[in-house]
Amino acid sequence: MITPRPTPPPRAPVTAARGGPTHACPGGCGRADVPFRLLACQPCWYRLPRDIRRALQAVKRHTPQHRDALEVAIGWYDANPLKGAKP
Ligand SMILES: [Zn+2]
Repeated sequence: MITPRPTPPPRAPVTAARGGPTHACPGGCGRADVPFRLLACQPCWYRLPRDIRRALQAVKRHTPQHRDALEVAIGWYDANPLKGAKP
């Protein structure tokens, strides 16, 4: 008698290119495959005002200044949700 194999659990919906670690996009687009070295997916990144993007790019990673810049960016996304996104 053959016992059916258990169904494997569903895989995570998307993996990033090259399989690196990923995180959910903070921009409200619903993507979950943003590589950790990036803040947001490309469309959401370019939704940020240029001065916020520049501020993030101007500071060294893993510093308090970078953390502050990230908080500004994520705060901007919170204040400017994607059109059509649920509140
Ligand atoms: Zn996004």
